[in-house]
Amino acid sequence: MAEVLVLVEHADGEPKKVTGELLTLARTLGEPSAVFAGAPGTYAKAKPYLAEFGAAKVYVVESDDVAGYVGAPVAEVLAKLVGEASPTAVLIAATADSREVAARTAAKTESGLIWDATAVSPELVATQGIFGGSTIVNSKVTKGTPVIVVRPNSTAPVAAPSTPAEAQVDITISDVAKGAKIVDRVAEAKSGRPDLTEAQVVVSGGRGLGAAEHFTLVEKLADTLGAAVGASRAATDAGWYPHQNQVGQTGKTVSPQLYIAVGISGAIQHRAGMQTSKTIVAINKDPEAPIFEFADYGLVGDLFNVVPQLTDEVEKRKG
Ligand code: FAD
Repeated sequence: MAEVLVLVEHADGEPKKVTGELLTLARTLGEPSAVFAGAPGTYAKAKPYLAEFGAAKVYVVESDDVAGYVGAPVAEVLAKLVGEASPTAVLIAATADSREVAARTAAKTESGLIWDATAVSPELVATQGIFGGSTIVNSKVTKGTPVIVVRPNSTAPVAAPSTPAEAQVDITISDVAKGAKIVDRVAEAKSGRPDLTEAQVVVSGGRGLGAAEHFTLVEKLADTLGAAVGASRAATDAGWYPHQNQVGQTGKTVSPQLYIAVGISGAIQHRAGMQTSKTIVAINKDPEAPIFEFADYGLVGDLFNVVPQLTDEVEKRKG
C-alpha cells in the first residue's frame, strides 16, 4: 500500500488534535506516515500519540533549522520525502503555519494543491468550499502528488494503536529556506477555553453586541457550553475582542459541530471562516440578515434578551 504523508501539527512536541484527525483520514487513503519536524528533543512527546492514531511510520527531523524558521524548511523536508517515498498524497492541517508549508510544498514538487478540504474519498477526491465557502465542489489533483490541506474537525479522530517504524530524515536545510527566522513566540493569554480552531462548539459575537463589555454575554454562553469564543472582524477591528479570535477570510477558519453567531450579519468574508460548521445557529434582530440564508437555526430577536435566556436554559438542562 502506498504511503500517505501526514504533517504532524504540534506545539513543542505536544500533538494537536488535528494530527489524530489527519492520521485517521490517512488510514482510509493508504499507509499513514507521519512527518515530525520540530526542535531537538521534542519528538519524544509526540511519539506515543502518533502510535495511538495508527502511524505505520514516522519520519523525524529534530533540528533548530526546521523549528526556528517560518514555513520554508518544513516544506523542504516534505518535498524531499515526496521525492523519495512517492506517497499517494500529503495531508496538512488548515492552520496558519501549515498553510504556508502546504503552498511551498506544492510549488516545490510541482504538484496540485487542494485548499480547505472537509472530506477526502479513497479516490482522493476532496470536498472543499470555494468562493469564500459559498459553493461546495469536489476536486481531484491531476498533476504531481496531491497536497491536500484539511480543515480541523473534518474527521473524528479514531485511535488505532500501531508500532510505527522510525526513520531519521537526513537533510540540510538550505540558506534560502532560512530567510524568515522566528525571533519570539508570545503565548496567548490563557482563557481556559478550548482552542478556537479545534473547538467542538464556538460562540462568536459581532457588531450587534455594541460594546466590548457586552462580550461577557458571549463568554457566559460559551462557558456554559464548554465552547471557544470567536468574533467578527467588525468586533475585532473595534477593539472589542482580540484579533486572534477573529473568524473569517482574514481570521481563523473553524469547523465545529455547533457554531452560534450572536449579532453577526453573515458577510461572505465571515462565512468563509465558519461555513463548514456542522450546525449553525444565528441570533439576530433583523429577519433579513444574510446569515439566516445559511444558518440551520435562526433566532430573530434582540440578543440582549435571547442570549441570557439561552445561557440560563442550557445551565438548567445541564442540571
Ligand atoms: P454587521 O455586518 O454590522 O452586523 C451586525 C449584525 O448585528 C446585524 O445583522 C444586526 O442586525 C445585528 N444586530 C444589531 N443589534 C442587535 C441586537 N441587539 N440583537 C441581535 N442582533 C443585532 N469579517 C469577518 O467577520 N471576518 C473576516 O475574516 C473578514 N475579513 C474581511 C476581509 C476583507 C478583504 C474585507 C473587505 C472584509 C472582511 N470582513 C471580515 C468584514 C466583513 O465584510 C463584514 O464587514 C463583517 O463581517 C461584519 O461584521 P458583523 O457581522 O459583526 O457586523
